[in-house]
Amino acid sequence: MLRAYETLCAVCTLRHGRLLDAAHIIGDRAEGGEPVVPNGLSMCKIHHAAFDTNLLGISPDYRVQIDGDLLAETDGPMLLHGLQEMHGRLLTLPSRHRDQPDLARLEQRWAAFGQVG
Ligand SMILES: [Zn+2]
Repeated sequence: MLRAYETLCAVCTLRHGRLLDAAHIIGDRAEGGEPVVPNGLSMCKIHHAAFDTNLLGISPDYRVQIDGDLLAETDGPMLLHGLQEMHGRLLTLPSRHRDQPDLARLEQRWAAFGQVG
């Protein structure tokens, strides 16, 4: 799955392979949560964890949204550069259409983010 993304984080474009994960848009226990390319996003460890905990959402037009409470926090450089500055950024996606994340899955996941955030 990661190969489709030429091993970079879709959020921040970090390229260091050992810091990258294949994140599932829909969790593997839910319907639609199969480990297939359209259910995946390549993400670095911090963005994967933020996505899984709904501190970071992906809108169906492929923009990064950071949780409002997190945006209001003050902390060190990881919060500022690694998370807050990602707000509104466009995802970096694979060029081949078949490797891109499935819009229906993104919309489903986005609805869940909206309820929390
Ligand atoms: Zn990242």
